Amino acid sequence: MTSIWFIAIIASLLSLAHLGLGFAIGLWARREPSEAGDARQMEIKRAKQLLECLRELTGAMTAEVEEHREQLATLSEQLERMEEGDDSPLTHLVIEVVSDIMRSNQQLKDRLTSAEMQLEQQTAEIESSLTRAMTDPLTGLYNRRALDDDLERRIACWQRKNTAVSVVLLDIDHFKRLNDTYGHAAGDKVLRQVANVLKATFRAMDLVTRFGGEEFAVILPETANEHAWAAAEKSIKAVRDARFTYEDHVIRVTISGGVATAMQGEFAEDLMKRADAALYASKDAGRDQGFYHNGESAVPIAENVELRETARATIESGNVANGPQAAGQSVELDAACAALRERVEHLASNDN
Ligand code: GH3
Ligand code: MG
Ligand code: MG
Repeated sequence: MTSIWFIAIIASLLSLAHLGLGFAIGLWARREPSEAGDARQMEIKRAKQLLECLRELTGAMTAEVEEHREQLATLSEQLERMEEGDDSPLTHLVIEVVSDIMRSNQQLKDRLTSAEMQLEQQTAEIESSLTRAMTDPLTGLYNRRALDDDLERRIACWQRKNTAVSVVLLDIDHFKRLNDTYGHAAGDKVLRQVANVLKATFRAMDLVTRFGGEEFAVILPETANEHAWAAAEKSIKAVRDARFTYEDHVIRVTISGGVATAMQGEFAEDLMKRADAALYASKDAGRDQGFYHNGESAVPIAENVELRETARATIESGNVANGPQAAGQSVELDAACAALRERVEHLASNDN
């Protein structure tokens, strides 16, 4: 009997500790996301893992208490049957004690169930605060923080496993002029529409982000050189061909692009710098076009139609190696190759 009380008391204390800790984490994580730096993001992620862990523990404990309650119920029934033929004070005492334990067990179970629900709610809140911290509110695209996170991971992967990664920077041309002509609200709407065009143009596995202002950055995993240039060109063309609307106005905009593929030993910052240099070369060359950076200088993508032909020939011959990674190694790569084939075919048909 002593051990039953002992378990009940320990379980009560643990459930209170769960609740207290859960609340503390929840309140702490609900502070304004604007306070959040990268380190805080990491802390929030860790707090979320901790909450999930607590929720699992609480769930396991609820199940144990339930099992415990069932055992007590069986014991109580047995005692009641005994009581019918036994009127001794000891039997009454035992029955009373078991009933008390059952009551406190039920209370414990209720508290655990409510702790579980609160932990679940707090985990969901942390999750949505994480999503908010990674999302640009105007366009709904991922933001720069998400880009930095993802690019670090991709670069690490590139260095360890030679899995190619490219970056495409895109900047709307003369956007200030658009704001000045139609107003800031029109500019905002055009930004949202351009974001939609970009999202529809790149593959699902590419990470399209709003890098800041009227600039977008796209991470292209498992994509190198001519394949990344082709993707950038396709997006530049898609924006050029799109008709954006604001009130009664039909507005056309163009976008310039800079592309870079990660090179051996290169860090995220260097890669972004090269893509940026390529973007500026596109602006200098008259906008509405793309340049790529080859490690030494920026080169116009348009000058490399023959390289697109090479890409098409490579794909058609069945050798779909994309950058340094060998073909046929993963489902993702196969999917990427199928998308590339489609992209190159589309480019080829535009060339004709
Ligand atoms: P360039 O072709 O050289 O890129 O010229 P630009 O006018 O696009 O570039 P500039 O850097 O001179 O101006 C960028 C403009 O983008 C100015 C700024 O007001 C506008 N902008 C940045 N963020 C937003 C936004 O969220 N909404 C709106 N409407 N405009 C924005
Ligand atoms: Mg611009
Ligand atoms: Mg800009």
